[in-house]
Amino acid sequence: MGSLNPDFSGETVVVTGGSSGIGRAVALAFGEAGATVLNVDVRVDPKDADAEMPTHEAIRESGGTASYAECDVADPDQLDAVIEAAREVGGADGHDPSARGTSSSGVDVMINNAGFYTKRRFRDVTPAEFEQVHGVNARGAFFGTQKAANDMIERGEPGVVINTASDTQGRAAWDHSHYAATKGAIRMITRSAALELAGEGVRVNAVAPGPVATEIREGWKEEAQEMGPTGETPDLPLRAAMPAELPGAYLYLASDDASYVTGETVWVDGGGHVC
Ligand code: NAD
Repeated sequence: MGSLNPDFSGETVVVTGGSSGIGRAVALAFGEAGATVLNVDVRVDPKDADAEMPTHEAIRESGGTASYAECDVADPDQLDAVIEAAREVGGADGHDPSARGTSSSGVDVMINNAGFYTKRRFRDVTPAEFEQVHGVNARGAFFGTQKAANDMIERGEPGVVINTASDTQGRAAWDHSHYAATKGAIRMITRSAALELAGEGVRVNAVAPGPVATEIREGWKEEAQEMGPTGETPDLPLRAAMPAELPGAYLYLASDDASYVTGETVWVDGGGHVC
């Protein structure tokens, strides 16, 4: 079967949580598609045991352009510094905004992907844990969307925001109540921002992964790989994904092929949401 051949030359793509897992795969894919990639993460080293070098170094090794900025996305002030960093990397050698008909450097595509999860029963979630998960997942996506959109609008450049949601945004799962609440929030951040920003030339969408074999928590990678259809009552028609199966949805939503798509959540979940 064929595949798409995306070209993001001249565009600056910011990926939060791009050091590991899904974000790393997404960052590598945009790097391969010619984008200038800025990986924004609290740690530069990948959590993935099979990753040989930090994401930005891997992109450079393949001939692409990429940088890393240390940032805790839960802190909106640190996100301001990310916008500044995007302007700088976008103006660096080899980056030509005019390649896409734009004149200034800044965030062209913002991917709010950084995420945090702790496995906890509803009755045991503490206020501190609730705040921590909401800080990274919900506040990070809210202000990541807001600050990137403001940068695009102030520069007069159309742009795209993509938030990483989750299959748990719309269905209950054991030990996920605090996390699922943040992903439900991301669904409405995405829809609300899409409404208010459409007239300003900014599209806002989300990708909702199902189980993906990553190191989001200890042991999850191995557990995920055991998942699959369960006889007469399957709750996962396909299986868990590998991170490299996610970027296609992000590339599509970021591209002009999706020019009439906003406020949408694309489920990349092996069909889990139909069950
Ligand atoms: P991961 O742990 O492999 O990657 C998450 C990355 O986010 C890490 O590099 C981590 O350092 C970074 N990060 C964490 N807190 C941060 C912070 N405060 N500021 C900046 N960076 C921070 O996990 P993943 O599975 O690749 O998760 C990526 C996204 O996908 C998350 O939003 C997660 O909720 C979502 N998701 C994952 C799954 C899954 O099964 N793995 C399913 C649905 C949704």
